[in-house]
Amino acid sequence: MSDSPELRRAAEAIRKSRKLAAFTGAGISVESGIPPFRGSNGIWNRYDSSLLDIDRFLRSPARSWEAIKAMFTGFLATADRAPVAPNPAHRVLAKWEAEGRLAGVITQNIDGLHTTAGSRNVIEYHGHCRTMTCLDCGKTVPLTAESTAADVPRCSCGGLLKPDFIFFGEGIPPKAARDAEELAATCDCMVLVGTSGAVYPAAALPPAAKRRGATIVEINPEPTAYTERGVTDVFIARKAGEAMTALDRLVSADGKDGE
Ligand SMILES: [Zn+2]
Repeated sequence: MSDSPELRRAAEAIRKSRKLAAFTGAGISVESGIPPFRGSNGIWNRYDSSLLDIDRFLRSPARSWEAIKAMFTGFLATADRAPVAPNPAHRVLAKWEAEGRLAGVITQNIDGLHTTAGSRNVIEYHGHCRTMTCLDCGKTVPLTAESTAADVPRCSCGGLLKPDFIFFGEGIPPKAARDAEELAATCDCMVLVGTSGAVYPAAALPPAAKRRGATIVEINPEPTAYTERGVTDVFIARKAGEAMTALDRLVSADGKDGE
């Protein structure tokens, strides 16, 4: 693969960055075999998305849990099993963090693959599937095959247990929202991988970083709202794994810049 001018510009921005952030969405996990939620091959073509409305869950939890369990079996890692593995794009981000190049990853994904790949500072903006919380007493328990064996998993207090990813109609977890806003406001370069900027409030984070002067590098197979609205400074029109592998080679070859 030849190095396009865009790849070289992106590598330079990443090398020069003093506080690099990543912002990821469904597109980074597609190469791991996780279908996107939206689009023609999306999860919402197979499952009724209203099953993940919080109001519907509260009204008919058994129906919602049936769909949730199918997603866990198919592609979402829980505390005790991982149906899919991270791909090179996840691994490069983990490597950059270990090398001190990357401050953290803000992800919209609930698949846990950044953590599995070895990333440590992962801000899971929409939550995750490792635990669930009792809606009555607030107790948190690991989400496992055993703890979700019942048709409707319940807490020892009898309350309804809900997985710790956000359902439609719920707000962003407060700590994740604060951490993401802070990272977006203080980074000087943000690499967007596999996210089209369609889902709010997450989609507002890259423009917030841009307003504070950050350079925005975007990796997506096709242009998105970010590209079209001028948020993106450097656009790399490639799949996540391929682009991140090429970027890592360029960034590593040149060594880490001094001040
Ligand atoms: Zn409880």
